Amino acid sequence: MATPGAKTTASKAGNVSSRPGTGRKRTGKVREKKRSAAETVPASPSAVAESLAFATPAIRERLARLGVRRLADLVLHLPLRYEDETELVPIARAISGASVQVEGTVIETRIEFRPRRQLLCRIEDASGTLTMRFFNFYPSQQKALARGAKVRLVGEIRRGLFGAETIHPRYRILRADTPLPESLTPVYPTTAGLSQDSIKKIVARALGETDLSETLPEEVRKRLDLQPFEASVRMLHNPPPEVAAASLQERSHPAWQRLKFDELLAQQLSMRLHYQRRSRIRAHPLRKYGELPRRLARKLPFTLTAAQSRVLDEIRADLVRSQPMQRLLQGDVGSGKTIVAALAALQAVESGFQVAVMAPTEILAEQHYRKFLHWLKPLGIDVVWLSGSLRKNERERAMEQLASGDTKLCVGTHALFQEQVVFRNLGLAIIDEQHRFGVRQRLMLRMKGGDEKTQPHQLMMSATPIPRTLAMSFYADLDVSVIDELPPGRTPVVTKLVADSRRDEVLARVREACAGGSQAYWVCPLIEESEALQLQTAIDTYERVQLEFPELKTGLVHGRMRAAEKAGVMEAFQSGEIQLLVATTVIEVGVDVPNASLMVIEHAERMGLSQLHQLRGRVGRGARSSACILLYQGPLSETARERLRIIYENNDGFEVARLDLHLRGPGEILGARQSGVPMLRFADLEQDVKLLEAARDVATVLVASRPDLVERHLERWLGGRQDYLRV
Ligand code: ADP
Ligand code: MG
Repeated sequence: MATPGAKTTASKAGNVSSRPGTGRKRTGKVREKKRSAAETVPASPSAVAESLAFATPAIRERLARLGVRRLADLVLHLPLRYEDETELVPIARAISGASVQVEGTVIETRIEFRPRRQLLCRIEDASGTLTMRFFNFYPSQQKALARGAKVRLVGEIRRGLFGAETIHPRYRILRADTPLPESLTPVYPTTAGLSQDSIKKIVARALGETDLSETLPEEVRKRLDLQPFEASVRMLHNPPPEVAAASLQERSHPAWQRLKFDELLAQQLSMRLHYQRRSRIRAHPLRKYGELPRRLARKLPFTLTAAQSRVLDEIRADLVRSQPMQRLLQGDVGSGKTIVAALAALQAVESGFQVAVMAPTEILAEQHYRKFLHWLKPLGIDVVWLSGSLRKNERERAMEQLASGDTKLCVGTHALFQEQVVFRNLGLAIIDEQHRFGVRQRLMLRMKGGDEKTQPHQLMMSATPIPRTLAMSFYADLDVSVIDELPPGRTPVVTKLVADSRRDEVLARVREACAGGSQAYWVCPLIEESEALQLQTAIDTYERVQLEFPELKTGLVHGRMRAAEKAGVMEAFQSGEIQLLVATTVIEVGVDVPNASLMVIEHAERMGLSQLHQLRGRVGRGARSSACILLYQGPLSETARERLRIIYENNDGFEVARLDLHLRGPGEILGARQSGVPMLRFADLEQDVKLLEAARDVATVLVASRPDLVERHLERWLGGRQDYLRV
């Protein structure tokens, strides 16, 4: 079919799927996934040359753009969706808003210039007339659509003021008698210069030349009620006439189930193997949790919650092993992860090892430094501070202390894993807000533990909870501990949504709160496009706030301030000297000032869900009842509205994360682009939890008993590609 004005078939797919009625959320998501997979997998030209020898170099290059480098990849290059071109609908019966196929004869074609340049073509069949409308078109189209030409088109038909019409339908001109296809037409993901027809031909060829043999033991396949692999791929590429269109579109058909299962299995297998490799690495086993941490625990003004004690037990047990711990400690904001980390650190220190505590922002690292100092100094333990903003000689001194082993505990930012930093005997690396760090950075800190065969234990902490399905699939090589309760006495933060037009009420609240002896944050709008603009906004906001609250002691903190300045302001806020702190999102993670009970967030509609949740977590840390006011400015986009609704209705970080996953899809949450992880193309971590669980169990069995099948399965799904894993 001709594709008027559309440069690529991919964008055509976009047009079609975004139409109401045919547009399915899934289709969009799948395309998104597919694209990121293609982008993140670097093409290896030699592999292409080998296995796709029949294609021209130009075609091979285009296929490589789609992540297709081998025949086997073509087999798994499955349709994005299917179109039903098996039936014609009389124009008069076409339902408004639905995508249908009609056929008719051209009665008139002309160009109109108002309200904008467009090509109009009116056709008729026995039942009525229909106007095709094109805003992008080639002159040749006008010629081809001459009066009397027979046209077959697929499009969404609307009934407007001037009768039935369709915008940018896919159409073709019928020269001779062209029979209708008998089955659904697959539509493939493609790229510029590669037509649906060429892809279809290449795929057909691949299906004939590739090994499609089974990689599941028969017994497993039967038990899980999965279709055979070969039949499934054949059916998805060439659905027979009788197959139910909906089950293909919605990917609920057993053939899809099989493919999704296989994809998840490949992911789980590759993770198992990685896990095995990792388990060969050694760590220095620490001594049992002893007197030192117990002394700290006794001095605390609170007792650990049951959840804190439980996760601490898990960590303690890991640390005495001769394999490096890789544990992710998850807990909602304010659940008390830091003290757990400090107690674990003391176990390492008592065993004679060094500990590094790393945080993603200077403010947070600084705050940890103070906390650790406060906790450990009385026990006679020195804490060293290392950040990029230290002066040269301070830095050198800190590094000497680490290299000599004089200092057992070091807190810092990214500066910690730089090459020049050498530890004498790093036994435990603690990484707060781990999702903020790149894979490479975490890896480098791990390597500080000495040689290739020995690594330090690693404790990662995150207040941005990773939904269970993600933890199971992408972080499957980590052990996860969860603090699922908040310390007692916290009153939940009340969230309010306030339109910007009602600022005055907000000002009154701030005044009232501060007069009552508590403190408040005023968070400046996020400006993603420009850091300079963001800074300017912060300064403007600060000035405005000073004018609005002449009676209050105010302060400003933003990312471009010098570290010492920042620390000074934070300290003043901590001590109550500053009542109202104007801040950019630099305070987003970790900041802990229990007396602050009010937070105002400007332009909340610009912020992401986890960001909002993190920010809100800065209040509600003391006994006072706290509030978080989200100022927004309309008109709101649909997503922004949805985000605000979610944050308004949910206080639980895990729930927020789950809904966030739903809203954004897993790719963004994982930061896949950044980390270079090929995402799942077919399976959906939200919908296919059952398959994921089954795949995980099967992976365990196969790795133990059928290395031959494991190898073939991974070859089919991953080939030479990097694996699915995050390190
Ligand atoms: P997060 O998990 O967000 O990192 P923090 O470790 O910063 O949370 O803890 C938040 C606050 O709760 C801190 O002021 C901390 O001292 C306090 N805290 C931690 N554990 C307890 C507890 N068991 N009882 C009371 N307060 C606690
Ligand atoms: Mg924290």
